[in-house]
Amino acid sequence: MPIAANLQAILAQIADTEKKAGRCPGETTLLVVSKTWPADVVSQCVDSHHIDYGENRVQEAAEKIPLLPDHLRWHLIGHLQKNKVRKAVELFPVIHSVDSLEMARRLDRIAGEEDRRPRIYLQVNIAREDRKFGFAPETLSESASALRQLENVDIHGLMTIPPFVEDPEKTRPHFAALRAFRDQLSEKEAWPLPGLSMGMSGDFSVAIEDGATIVRVGSSIFGTRQPWPPEQ
Ligand SMILES: *Cc1c(COP(=O)(O)O)cnc(C)c1O
Repeated sequence: MPIAANLQAILAQIADTEKKAGRCPGETTLLVVSKTWPADVVSQCVDSHHIDYGENRVQEAAEKIPLLPDHLRWHLIGHLQKNKVRKAVELFPVIHSVDSLEMARRLDRIAGEEDRRPRIYLQVNIAREDRKFGFAPETLSESASALRQLENVDIHGLMTIPPFVEDPEKTRPHFAALRAFRDQLSEKEAWPLPGLSMGMSGDFSVAIEDGATIVRVGSSIFGTRQPWPPEQ
């Protein structure tokens, strides 16, 4: 199917799932994950008036963003390196991959210097995988008061990337765990954390049933990813 039709099909599936799950219509944002796809491919979604796009590499985004219209909203979803923070703050009004207190503080300082105030999600390693980025839940609880003192970042909620499995039902417990952790942290600290960034092509419906407010979908819209940079 052409990309615009895939996009409409995903939006319809999101609306359908919201309805069946008793969520408010339009409560879930679709983040179109455009990583690895060149600007002329992404522009097919732009032509359908889609606004939110996700990239996982700062350098790739820096090349792509100037080729697309100014009104789009770019979200960083990949691991952020210390030396890329200033560039990331310049390019991305939303950052989903803030995975340590140190990184949150660095972002806060640089956002202040650059006169920006990015919306951020704190990435949680909810399945406690070795070698996966993200706060361990107890580390995030311990860091809560320090995080709340940051003035130049708008901490909107939590994000997770659960272990990959074919059957989306096997991912459900991780989504449910992130939501339960958010509810608990939010209550204990009296800290509104409305956002839950969870769910990808294979499991976004399950994530919406479990409370996602933004789902990150790439391959169901664009097809299997190309290597980056695209081969000549
Ligand atoms: C690539 C990526 C996605 C999109 O994955 P698809 O399975 O192609 O939908 C979502 N979230 C993150 C963090 C990613 O890196």
